[in-house]
Amino acid sequence: MGKGWSKSDWRAKPRVQMPDYPDAAALSAVEGTLSRMPPLVFAGEVRRLKADLAKAARGEAFLLQGGDCAESFGEFSADNIRDTFKVMLQMAVVLTWGAKVPVIKVGRMAGQFAKPRSAPTEMIGGVEYPSYRGDIINGFEATMDSRQPDPNRMLQAYTQAAASLNLLRAFSTGGFADIHRVQSWIAGFTDADEAEKYRKVADQISEAMEFMRAAGVTSETAHELGAVEFYTSHEALLLEYEEALCRIDSTTGLPVAGTGHMLWIGDRTRQPDGAHVEFCRGVQNPIGLKCGPSTTEEDLKVLMAKLNPENEAGRLTLIARFGAGKVGDHLPRLIRTVESEGANVVWSCDAMHGNTIKSASGFKTRPFESVLREVREFFAIHKAEGTIPGGVHFEMTGKDVTECTGGVRAVTDEDLSSRYHTACDPRLNASQSLELAFLVAEELQD
Ligand code: PEP
Ligand code: MN
Repeated sequence: MGKGWSKSDWRAKPRVQMPDYPDAAALSAVEGTLSRMPPLVFAGEVRRLKADLAKAARGEAFLLQGGDCAESFGEFSADNIRDTFKVMLQMAVVLTWGAKVPVIKVGRMAGQFAKPRSAPTEMIGGVEYPSYRGDIINGFEATMDSRQPDPNRMLQAYTQAAASLNLLRAFSTGGFADIHRVQSWIAGFTDADEAEKYRKVADQISEAMEFMRAAGVTSETAHELGAVEFYTSHEALLLEYEEALCRIDSTTGLPVAGTGHMLWIGDRTRQPDGAHVEFCRGVQNPIGLKCGPSTTEEDLKVLMAKLNPENEAGRLTLIARFGAGKVGDHLPRLIRTVESEGANVVWSCDAMHGNTIKSASGFKTRPFESVLREVREFFAIHKAEGTIPGGVHFEMTGKDVTECTGGVRAVTDEDLSSRYHTACDPRLNASQSLELAFLVAEELQD
C-alpha cells in the first residue's frame, strides 16, 4: 500500500456516481483551500481503529457502525449529534453484555454527506431534475439552481464535519460517556411497559455495574468506564474531497485519508478497475466494502487482493447487505471465497440497504422485522460456516423519527408521515435502535 500510488491516480480511472462540476476554476479553488486545511482525523487514531478491527476479525471485539444515511446541512445541530452518540453508547453497552467482548463504536458521522443514486435524474412534479446527491454536492430543494453541483459545498461539509468531531471528542472523554450514566439511560428505556421484555437483561447489566462499584472499580479508578473511543466513517464517494484531505502519516510515511477514520466503498462504486477502488487502495485507513447480491466471487477475490494485498487484519471489513430472505443465497458463497483465499476480514451485517420498500402510504421505509431477520440470517450462516460475525451496520438516529415501521413502540404505515425527516434512506429511531441492540445481544449470547 502506498508504494506506486498517488492520491490523484483515481482521476485516470472510470468514475461513476460523481458530479460533473460545471465550473472547473471554482472546483480547483476549493480543492486548493481544502488541501491547506488540517485533516479531520489523525493517523494514530486510524491505526488504533485498525488494531481494534483486527480484534473483531478474530472475534475478540465487535463492531457497531451506525448513523444517518446522509448527514445534511439543514438537520445539523449539537442536539442531533448528542442524541445519536447517546443511543450508540447504549447499544454498545447492551452489545458488550451480549458479546462479552469490547464493542468498537464507529459513527456514520462527520463526513457522511455524499450519496450514490439509482438514476442521474428524477421526476418531481412532472419536471426532470438532476438527482439530489447529498449536501456536499447539491441541494435537496427541487429547483434547477439548487440541483446544480457546487464545489463550495465541500467547504461547508468540511466545517460541519470539524464541528461535529470536536463535539464527539468532547462527549467521548468529558464525563458524558460514563458507563453509569449510559446504564441509567438504558434502564429508562426498559422501565417503560412496552419494553418490559428487555428488563431482565437491563437488570443484569445494572447488577454487574453494582458489583464492580462494590469491588472498587469506578470511573475514577478505571479510566475505561468514564470515557470511550468513538470513530467516524463515511462512504468515500466524492473523490475530489477525499484527495484534497489525504495526508502523509509522519510516523509511517504512508498516505492516510484525513476525512474520517474508516472509509467504505458503496455497492454501486466497487468496480475493481474503477476510481473509488483506486483511491481507497492507497490510503492506510480501515476500508469497508459493501457486498450485495451482485457481488461475484471473482470480483471479491480481485477486490480483496487490491484493497488488502498484505492481508492485514483490520484493514478490510466486508459489509454484507443482501436483504432478509436473501442472505442464504449469497453469504455462504462469499464466506467460502474469503476462506479459500485465507483472507483476514471483518464480516459485518448492514441490515438496512437490502430491506427498503415503498409503504402503502408512499414513503420509503424499512420494516423492523426485516432488519432483524437479516441480522438473524447473518448470524445463523456464520454459525453454520464456522466463521465469525464481526459486527453490525445500521442507519439510525437518536431522534424519535417515524421512518422505519415496527418495534415495541410500534410505528405503523400511517405514522410514517408524522416525523419523516430523512433526506435519503429511512433510519431506525432511538427506541428501535436500542431494541435491535437487545435482540442482537441475544443472538450473540447463543
Ligand atoms: C449507504 O450505506 O447509505 C448505501 C448507499 O449503501 P449501499 O452502497 O450498500 O447501497
Ligand atoms: Mn443509505
